[in-house]
Amino acid sequence: MAEKMLAVLKKEKSPGAEIDYVEVPRIKPDMVLVKVKACSICGTDLHIYNWDKWAQGRIKPPMIFGHECAGEVVEAGSEVKRAKVGDFVSAETHIPDQTCYQCRTGKMHICKNLKILGVDTNGAFAEYLAIPDICVWKNDKSLPAEIATIQEPFGNATYTVMESNVSGKVIAIFGDGPIGCFATGIARAVGAAKIYAVGEFPFRVELLKKMGADVALSIQKENAVEVIMDQTSGEGVDVVLEMTGVQKAIEDGFKILKKGGTFTAFGIPSDKILFDLSNNVIFKGAKIIGINGRLMFDTWYQLSNILNNKLVDPTPVITHKFPLKDFQKGIDALLSPTKECGKVVLYP
Ligand SMILES: [Zn+2]
Ligand SMILES: [Zn+2]
Repeated sequence: MAEKMLAVLKKEKSPGAEIDYVEVPRIKPDMVLVKVKACSICGTDLHIYNWDKWAQGRIKPPMIFGHECAGEVVEAGSEVKRAKVGDFVSAETHIPDQTCYQCRTGKMHICKNLKILGVDTNGAFAEYLAIPDICVWKNDKSLPAEIATIQEPFGNATYTVMESNVSGKVIAIFGDGPIGCFATGIARAVGAAKIYAVGEFPFRVELLKKMGADVALSIQKENAVEVIMDQTSGEGVDVVLEMTGVQKAIEDGFKILKKGGTFTAFGIPSDKILFDLSNNVIFKGAKIIGINGRLMFDTWYQLSNILNNKLVDPTPVITHKFPLKDFQKGIDALLSPTKECGKVVLYP
């Protein structure tokens, strides 16, 4: 096997990233080595690239980042029980310690000592990637690599939708990024009666429509709260899926939430948010659900069933594909002010 490999690195404690040759990772006995066939860029990677406040507090350069991936197992450690050489796999990116209270009570995805692939460890923007056996997800061989790599964010969307009991309900989804788009398709597939999708950028609002939104609104063009309240005879919606983390969207989400409704929070605010607990939750009898990651591995079984049986076609959301060496082109597309892109997939 090759000694060196191409990888995208965060070398310095400053904005940007570099492509360079580095050592192929060595695996521990409980790990597998994966030859990466496809990887994809996530919002987290943009935080690392931009070196924002969160990245400064969490990331320890030099490191390889990236976590969404699909590839072939080329080496398995002596203690590995699940994966075999030749398996086509993706990675669950939450790495649990498997010993804490949460891990022992079926909540590995919120392990107290959780590490994240490509954040706390070397990641997937490379020709090879080492992952612990516990995080290996075996893919159906017929699944295209560009779909296999987006299963991790597709899983965030699946978990959010499944926790929210959307079947037969009128719902609103806030967020026009890939996860908002996936959530729209999944909610449609599992029987949401009517879907309002609220986005910002016109290109992405079109994606929300393509993924099955009945009404897709751009906050650049219209007042989403007025439109939704008007169309629901002033009642509002049964369920809000909040996938932006933006204060205004959170406020608007509660404004259009029906009394007794469910508000599911997935988007992460960059700071503390001001929040009217009395009127938004207590008097409203609202239920709030927090979503972090994916259930390990209930969500993976569900999302596989959805993708393998073609209940949702995620391909409209995959708008850009580049070789890994053109990583910068992918970043530029995602950082462009008009956001004329969905998911960016890279091929090492
Ligand atoms: Zn991700
Ligand atoms: Zn744990």
